Amino acid sequence: MMTASQYEESLRKLNLVVYMFGKRIDDPVDHPIIRPSMNAVAKTYAMAQHPECADIMTAVSHISGRRINRFTHIHQSRDDLIKKTKMGRLMGAHTGCCFQRCVGMDALNALSIVTYDMDQRHGSSYYQRFLKYLAFVQEHDLTCDGAMTDPKGDRSLPPHQQPDPDMYLHVVTEREEGIVVRGAKAHQTGAVNSHEVIVMPTIAMRKADEEYAVAFALPSDAQGITYIMGRQSCDTRKMEAHALDTGNAAFGGHEALIVFDDVLVPWERVFMYKEYEFAGALVEKFAAYHRQSYACKVGVGDVLIGAAQTIAEYNGAQNASHIKDKLIEMNHLNETLYCGSLSCASEGHQEPSGTYCVNTLLANVAKQNVTRFPYEIARLAQDIAGGLMVTLPSASDLKSPEIGRWVEKYFKGRAGVSTEKRFRILRLIENLTLGTAAVGYLTESMHGAGSPQAQRIMIARQVNMKEKQRLAKKLCGIDENI
Ligand code: SF4
Ligand code: FE
Repeated sequence: MMTASQYEESLRKLNLVVYMFGKRIDDPVDHPIIRPSMNAVAKTYAMAQHPECADIMTAVSHISGRRINRFTHIHQSRDDLIKKTKMGRLMGAHTGCCFQRCVGMDALNALSIVTYDMDQRHGSSYYQRFLKYLAFVQEHDLTCDGAMTDPKGDRSLPPHQQPDPDMYLHVVTEREEGIVVRGAKAHQTGAVNSHEVIVMPTIAMRKADEEYAVAFALPSDAQGITYIMGRQSCDTRKMEAHALDTGNAAFGGHEALIVFDDVLVPWERVFMYKEYEFAGALVEKFAAYHRQSYACKVGVGDVLIGAAQTIAEYNGAQNASHIKDKLIEMNHLNETLYCGSLSCASEGHQEPSGTYCVNTLLANVAKQNVTRFPYEIARLAQDIAGGLMVTLPSASDLKSPEIGRWVEKYFKGRAGVSTEKRFRILRLIENLTLGTAAVGYLTESMHGAGSPQAQRIMIARQVNMKEKQRLAKKLCGIDENI
């Protein structure tokens, strides 16, 4: 397994084409806006080195028998699925943001199921190809970006009817050595911090869309790939003089648009091509896994609840009954999210390939709660924090030789707590509910791993309504024999 610093060095060796603010970024690792997101992924390597975290952060590879980082593992039991949930919470709590590495893990696990199923139907050899690729990822302890979401253009039209055929990533030509692909993937979490990009289709497809039914993996710096970094709320705070203004100077997340401009994918890295009838299954498996992964928000919730309790204490308000009750509500909501992720793991099952998969219905219910509860937890944190969170002057004012004494004096809370400590905790709450971390804690909770309606469709599909009706009809005597 790589250490955090080996991971950082490995990123420096990549030749990524990254743009931000209209300019090419030569060294993404050291860019002040990107660097905290790299730190968050590096933490997945660092935590795996701690002996006390080994049970959660590492696993034994079912192909090599060697100890590997759990982010590269294929789940072999329900216990593995449960540990994945615990790992998400642990990592969220230690970074206070999106640590980006789950998408690749979820893509690998989804492919381990679907490539096997395709081979059973078609007699192809995708699964062996995939296992070879998996061995490479595990051996080198790589971070993979799981790239699913296409730009989608006109949402009412399937891929092959789009006025612009590139709105869904597709194969433009076949060559002896592989396929050439064109298109883009949007909202790509941690893309610039990844060694590999694993591309999957984004929707179920029909025969007419078979050129779009494609899954593959590429090195992240393959010829023809360009990254265009997304803005985040308050992102330029990271470039200011005082880290104090950021709330969480060490860690952050990022998303990027990845453009594939006629990129060659060698055959040994193609995991689906034209098997359109399996595109939907791949989407569903990946989505179920990734909806479980939102246990990360429970860990971030832990940080926010801790911050809310702290500011209440700094304000001298911690004994007010309504404050106590709000904190109980925050914990109740946060632990309910944890229950959801744990339950879909403990109700997991084994797929024909041997991989364990979460319970799809419960994973969708869990993620549906994630689209709501962090907003309420954030609302309560803002309620407890007070308006100062958004009216506080800058750290430069606090440190100013002219006016610093007034900032120090008038922003002090309870005796014994420095004004700077109050600044720090308020900025953290601002970061988590309005700033860069809110991108992950709030909007990503809404739309990441599929927007709320996607889960509602799956819930409608997965519940056994007939059985519920049978029970009701039997009890009230409509039909006692059913
Ligand atoms: Fe992982 Fe959560 Fe970030 Fe998704 S949002 S990549 S599950 S940390
Ligand atoms: Fe996400």
